[in-house]
Amino acid sequence: MNQKPIWKPTGNPFVDMGQEMMAALARVDSLEDLTIEAIENLLPRLVNLYFQQAWNKTMYSVFPNSPLTNPATKHRQQTYLDLLRHWLSLAADLQGGVIVDTACTACGNPAQLYLSRTFFPMADAKGGNFQSHNVTGMPFCGACALAVQFMPLGLAKVGGKLALPQFSDADAQYTWSEWCWRRTLVSETTDATGPVDAGTARAANAFFALIERLLRESAGCEIPDSSITLYLFTNYNQGPDVELHYLPTEVFRFIKQAMAPSLQRAWRQVVRRGYVRKSREIDPKTLDEGEQLKKRTNHVYEHLLHDRSISSYFIDHRQRRPVSDWRLFKAYLKEVHGMNEQRLESLRDLGNRISEIIRNKRKRLLALERANRKGEFVEQLYRLSKDAAAAGQDRPLITFDELVQDVFPHDPEKYESWREVKYLLLFRVYEMLYDELRADTEWTTSDESEEVTEEVTR
Ligand SMILES: [Zn+2]
Repeated sequence: MNQKPIWKPTGNPFVDMGQEMMAALARVDSLEDLTIEAIENLLPRLVNLYFQQAWNKTMYSVFPNSPLTNPATKHRQQTYLDLLRHWLSLAADLQGGVIVDTACTACGNPAQLYLSRTFFPMADAKGGNFQSHNVTGMPFCGACALAVQFMPLGLAKVGGKLALPQFSDADAQYTWSEWCWRRTLVSETTDATGPVDAGTARAANAFFALIERLLRESAGCEIPDSSITLYLFTNYNQGPDVELHYLPTEVFRFIKQAMAPSLQRAWRQVVRRGYVRKSREIDPKTLDEGEQLKKRTNHVYEHLLHDRSISSYFIDHRQRRPVSDWRLFKAYLKEVHGMNEQRLESLRDLGNRISEIIRNKRKRLLALERANRKGEFVEQLYRLSKDAAAAGQDRPLITFDELVQDVFPHDPEKYESWREVKYLLLFRVYEMLYDELRADTEWTTSDESEEVTEEVTR
């Protein structure tokens, strides 16, 4: 096609999501292939969908006072359709009907109209700089105005708010819009479902619930690495509001591995331990996971979003058992903390050697568990080394190279939190001595308050 494309990425999350959804509905592979004719065919479909009850209810939070929701508007469906067709005609002639010397807020084309919050979320919340005194809203071109009307198809419900994920990688974004498109088709045939519901109003829980679902339901297609910004907004008449949440690429890479079929169950075990219990009486185990997702803060999710360690959730101090699976813990340390394969294997071997000592000297385990400062941890490793030497082992427990490269690396490139090393070693010890520790009642019960108050900081 020699013609200049009408739609192209703009960097505005609302416009870009709308464009992605237009492309998904029109079944074209890229925005450049979108034509006026293709969009024209989509308009009646879009209007039908938005007047379904479940979708229409959502529109109060997206396009309030528009013909979609305003009971004072006569012939609402037709009015809305006519409006979309008008904007499409402007998009077909982007140099026509332009407002002199004013550029589209989203894409920089010459502006053709002003949109208020009624048709573009937040448009007049911060619009003061863009407009002269007697117009309301912000300047846009017809192409962007129209695209934004498709944007709700790519949203998810998070309590009373709507979530719009923006992926840094275009192909990852495409996976999201394809997933939403499949759900749109379901909506069109059953008319009972509006936007996908995250099942909770809690931002961190919702963010992960959506990403996990996307990964699970897109199994089989390789989703590229990407960071994700989640815009959580409401354009509701009483109090429009937007907040941003950010998921770094490393965390997304880890979640992708955690959602592999062979690790999903292990990941759920870790996630379940992240739910905060409100009181001793209500054990989170009595709530099913959907209820917990809805009602409880989850520290595993919160920590992952705020660059805090979740290593402590991979071990159960109280029961002295590893939680989940070494492959999952390894994936976490590797992807999120950048610990390399060789170092992880070396530390795991060290865990094996320590297990052999602890097998006959249980008090070392207690001391290792209680080491709460780096100095205490070093001291316990020193004692374990002396035990190993006393037992006449032919190699030192920790060689000098292992100490400076794997246990306490001085390399600024390497992640050096000693706590991660401690948790890794405990994970391995619990794994190796699982049956013995279980059978030994004297050692299986430690202070119960420990787990509840346990909070990792670094
Ligand atoms: Zn524009």
